[in-house]
Order: sequence, then structure tokens, then C-alpha cells
Amino acid sequence: MDPPDFSEVRGKAIVESLAITFGLNLPSSVTLNDVEKRWRDRIALMIRCAETGEGIIREKDVLTRHDCEYDEEDLDWDYEDEVVEEKSKEITKQMMDAAIKFYRSCKKKINYRGQGTRSLKSMTRRFRWITSNRVLQSVITYGATGCYSDNTIHVFVGKSHIMSRATAEHFFKNVLFGGKVPATLLLILDLWPIFRDHAFIKSFAPPSTDLHIINIPPGGTSICQPADLSYNHQLKGIQKRLTSLVMFRDIRYRVSERDNLLKFASQAHWVIGSPRFKSFIAYGFYKGGFIHSKPPPFDGPKQFIFGAGISKPCSCSQEGFTVCPRCEESFCFECFWDKCHRC
Ligand SMILES: [Zn+2]
Ligand SMILES: [Zn+2]
Repeated sequence: MDPPDFSEVRGKAIVESLAITFGLNLPSSVTLNDVEKRWRDRIALMIRCAETGEGIIREKDVLTRHDCEYDEEDLDWDYEDEVVEEKSKEITKQMMDAAIKFYRSCKKKINYRGQGTRSLKSMTRRFRWITSNRVLQSVITYGATGCYSDNTIHVFVGKSHIMSRATAEHFFKNVLFGGKVPATLLLILDLWPIFRDHAFIKSFAPPSTDLHIINIPPGGTSICQPADLSYNHQLKGIQKRLTSLVMFRDIRYRVSERDNLLKFASQAHWVIGSPRFKSFIAYGFYKGGFIHSKPPPFDGPKQFIFGAGISKPCSCSQEGFTVCPRCEESFCFECFWDKCHRC
């Protein structure tokens, strides 16, 4: 992009044109030259992005014309040439893009797919924010999917929100049987056709696993599905409480944005997987009639993480938002849900 010719720019004319663009009824209309039009369009775009919330959430990102609804012609400012200054530890799309580009640019270390790779040490030397293997893994997954990812969630891009046979196969291979599988495993599934195809499911299980599959009879899910009786309620409850608190405290964060939803899914599963909530998980099996001994009294995940403990401030001195069920410390919204606290 050629640098703009500042001698041609009349500030007052741009402001007048901007005011007209935003509906102010001014007596005279001004004619702008091309350079002035670009300034007007750029400022208008920034204001429109701020209006829709995009400019606040992505202020460290590179703005593109797709970031907000824009219906004016003559937009030819090349935003990608903008230098964006990093002011916080937030991991932005731009940082991820730069990291994955560098990671894949190595010519010496090649993976089995013929792609370049680099060690954590080499990545940390170049990008000081890549402090652990977990962060590096997120960068690699980001390169493959373009989404936020970490080692609690498995991100897979599908063509529909409905699980197909192909996505089910991917799930069995990479999630259910993709890591450590217990020697004996009981799967309690509903009546979805693929869940009734036991031979299909068993074909993905390690041969050493003693796998038992039972299907819940029609109409029985709400009565005896353990996940429905405990886990799922809490997951929804945590999401609702989090959204209300974000609104109530006026935190600048869009919970519904794709990567933020992925962060939430990851963090909420990590929270509920805490050893503290073992009795809570067991309760679903007790209530569904699978076990007969009643688990000891417990705190529900939502009650614990948003309980009285949040009156304590975070170690970064911001207001407490969530108590970690594992280290029992209080964290602010940013440290726990945005930067995904792990301990
Ligand atoms: Zn913790
Ligand atoms: Zn904090």
C-alpha cells in the first residue's frame, strides 16, 4: 500500500462526511478526494465495528471488511498492512497465525505428513507467550482447524450440527477410544440408530477392552440416563450463570462467539471433571438406578465455583468471578474463562 498523501487530506471535510454517513443532517455536502474517502471509510468501519461489538472484542486483531456489516462502496483501504501493537497477554488470531506459520516453516524437522515442525524450545524462543506444550498444542490444532483448541476438547469441523455416521466414527476413534481406555467399559446409550449398531461401535474399541453396551428403552432417557440426571443440568446451569454474571458485571466478552464457546466447553468439562465432584457424578448413576449406595453429600459444580469463595479477589487483583474446584483459589473472569486457568 502506498503511504497516503497527507497534503491532500482535509480533516474537517472528513469529519463532515462522516457525520453525514452516520445520518446527521448537515446543511452542506462535501466532496472528498480519494485519500479523504479512504480515511472516512476507515474511521466509519471502526465505529461500526465498535457499535456491533466486533471492534471491542477484536481490537488487537486485524480488521477486515468482513468483520462487520458494511454496505458502502469505495472501500479499498488495505487493513492487513496495519501494524497491531500487543498490549496484553491475550492470545490473538494474529499471534496464532504468526506462530503456526513459523512452526510449519521448518525445513529440517518434518512430520509423517511432510509438514515442518519445531520443538517447544524453538517456539518459546521465538514467541514468549508459548510457555508450555499445552499452548503449543493449541497452536498446532489451530493450524489444522482454525479454531481455539486445547487438550480437554477435541475440535472437528463438520458440515452440519447433526452428528452423522462419519462424525460418529471420528468421535469413537479419536475421543472415546482415542486415549486411555479402561479395561472394562459400560456404555449406556440412547436409541439413536448408530448407538444401536453395537458391532460398529465395537470395531473402534481396542481389542483388549471388555466393552458392554446397553441402550436405554424408548422414553427412558429422562428417568435413567446418568448424564441427563446430573452432568448435563450442571453444564447448562454453569453456562447460564456465567452469561448472567458477564452481563451483570458488564464484562466486554461475547460468550456466543465460536472460539469463546469452545473455551467455555473446554473449561466447563475440566471443572466438572475435578475429583471434588466424584460424588456428584455418582449421583446420576444412583438416581438412574444403576447403583444402590447413595453417594455422600456434595457441592454441585455450579454452587461451588460461583459460591461464596468468589468474594476473594483474583491474584491479578481483579474482582473474583469463579473458584477453581481443584486449587480452590478465586479467579477473575479473564484469568479463569478467557485465559483458561489450569492447575
Ligand atoms: Zn486451579
Ligand atoms: Zn485474574
